[in-house]
Amino acid sequence: MTQLTSQERVAQLHQQINQYNHEYYVLDQPTVPDVEYDRLMRELIELEQQHPALKTLDSPSQKVGGEALKAFTQVTHQLPMLSLDNVFSEDEWQAFIKRIQERLGSSKALAFCAEPKLDGLAVSLRYEHGVLVQAATRGDGSVGENITENIRTIKSIPLKLRDSQVPEVLEVRGEVFMPKASFETLNQQAKQKGDKPFANPRNAAAGSLRQLDSKITAKRNLAFYAYSVGFVGDLAGNQQDQWLANSHYQRLEQLKTLGLPMCPEVKLLADQNQCQRFYQDILNRRDDLSYEIDGTVLKVDDIAAQQQLGFVARAPRWAMAYKFPAQEELTVLEDVEFQVGRTGAITPVARLKPVFVGGVTVSNATLHNQDEIARLAIKIGDTVIIRRAGDVIPQVVSVVADRRPVSAQEVVFPTECPVCQSPVKKREDEAVVRCTGGLVCQAQRKEAIKHFASRKALDVDGLGDKLVEQLVDENMIGTPADLFKLTATELSTLERMGQKSADKLVNALVAAKQTTLAKFIYALGIREVGEATASNLAQHFLALDKIQAATIEQLQKVDDVGEVVAKNIVDFFNAQNNVEVVTDLLAQGIHWPEIEVKSADQQPLTDLTYVLTGTLSQLSRNDAKARLQALGAKVSGSVSAKTHYLVAGEKAGSKLAKAQDLGVAVLTEDDLIALLAEHE
Ligand code: NAD
Repeated sequence: MTQLTSQERVAQLHQQINQYNHEYYVLDQPTVPDVEYDRLMRELIELEQQHPALKTLDSPSQKVGGEALKAFTQVTHQLPMLSLDNVFSEDEWQAFIKRIQERLGSSKALAFCAEPKLDGLAVSLRYEHGVLVQAATRGDGSVGENITENIRTIKSIPLKLRDSQVPEVLEVRGEVFMPKASFETLNQQAKQKGDKPFANPRNAAAGSLRQLDSKITAKRNLAFYAYSVGFVGDLAGNQQDQWLANSHYQRLEQLKTLGLPMCPEVKLLADQNQCQRFYQDILNRRDDLSYEIDGTVLKVDDIAAQQQLGFVARAPRWAMAYKFPAQEELTVLEDVEFQVGRTGAITPVARLKPVFVGGVTVSNATLHNQDEIARLAIKIGDTVIIRRAGDVIPQVVSVVADRRPVSAQEVVFPTECPVCQSPVKKREDEAVVRCTGGLVCQAQRKEAIKHFASRKALDVDGLGDKLVEQLVDENMIGTPADLFKLTATELSTLERMGQKSADKLVNALVAAKQTTLAKFIYALGIREVGEATASNLAQHFLALDKIQAATIEQLQKVDDVGEVVAKNIVDFFNAQNNVEVVTDLLAQGIHWPEIEVKSADQQPLTDLTYVLTGTLSQLSRNDAKARLQALGAKVSGSVSAKTHYLVAGEKAGSKLAKAQDLGVAVLTEDDLIALLAEHE
């Protein structure tokens, strides 16, 4: 890269900052995080300080905000609406205090009005004889947009002041912002409609306020806090300050008594040494506030001192925005890796150039799934915005499109599981891509084996979760079938496993080999095949090979089996790896009795649907369910219009209420026992 001269760099910074200003202030769609903008602005200011000749009148460092949109009529502010200078550290804060003390020629304690820095947009409200007549945005500081109609839709802004003893003209300034909850809802709605979500509540507030149709603004749930006064005087334009207090804080109190909302966090601090504590306190509570803030604003409280300090081009000298560490930063996506979760879900994970954001160094972030990758239109090599707010895990917010290098590469999803090389599958109705090698995939092994041995499956006595983990970690088992190959001698080598326990476990494994087809199907851990479905499959097909060979259509004939479950079953048995484990299990001697085909009179409850709820005291829920199913009944988990009977045990809750609502017949536990006794 060729080294730019200072002049060239300044020109480049002008161009870049102007573009970002346009995106931020005019389009309400920034493409880079605020820190990046602030960095560029600081670099420009430093260059201008080193080379004063490069500081031109049209420099972005000399301007406030962006141009007012032409679509609105324009309002010329009677007094300019300025921006704020900012500091990011205690050292910079102390340097600011030193500067103002020098200017004031005194090192006396300075009282400060301390306020949160609300992340919205500045507006000016003009009251004449106590009635709201005009509202305007800040615009470029001297000319703003007339947004009176839209402001009228904000409920907390009084259309008439509470006290009529006010100056003829009173201009109130403050921030319009969007509470966090409203922002979430708005963006969710935008996503559902396929619209572009807003980058942050600040841009959402600005976009909502600058609508040509005030009905749209009215729906956006905006809020307002006053934080200063502007022009105060008569209609002829003569400034008259005598009505106003001499303290900034007291002026805010004056506004409050007129019915203007003020942020409850605002405090009067007796001296500058309390500012750091205020900053820290607000920072600690930032996530708990219902609105977004990006720092604190600290204002010299004494109005005479404010006047003495005056202004520079774009900001007052008597106020400072002490900003919080950034929650958004820029970094580069170096690679995308794919992780397999314990349920087989394959998650793309962004490997990022480490970046300090939200108080920690972030080098990874989940990209969730293919849909998210498509939404972000992300490529490897891209510059991306990372957000880490509070305790929330880091997120990739967006790609900075104009920083894409020519070498950027598409993110390609694997067609094979990166862990076990089984084929991967994505169902149309799901965003997740999954590994199909449930029983063999190392990433899923532990969960698969725990499930296989669990009580409702093969019920291996004494084989708890910890032991399964130990066996997998020690490489003693890879699949459920390997369990049956373990010898007592091998087992006794495990930590905390005596000869006696090892013998016991081997015996339990032998006993577990005797099972039922339903339990075996359930034990395989096919996605969404629970106990009831497994039992229905067993009853319907009677033999394992028939289930293995069944088509999607045939499977859908089984009670409770819809297309999704049918596909899961077919996918499971299509994966060679799974079939090998099933074969191995049978070779280890797993067996079950043949299923008796019950005639219609042995299944008197066929076509009836039962739901069990509450606590049963004389038999277990599982037992009741199995016995009802053996009589042909369907046992469902939720009450609907299709339910025939609800069996309500003790402490039955919402299901009982729903059944009563729907007029479903309710049985007691005694009724159920009598019913079973009648038919079994
Ligand atoms: P600012 O937001 O840093 O500070 C001034 C503003 O703070 C005021 O106009 C007012 O709206 C607001 N404010 C909130 N609480 C206040 C309070 N209690 N008292 C007084 N004012 C309060 O300055 P700005 O000129 O509005 O915007 C500049 C900032 O905007 C930059 O520092 C940057 O963070 C961001 N920006 C970002 C991009 C981008 O592309 N990402 C572009 C332009 C600007």
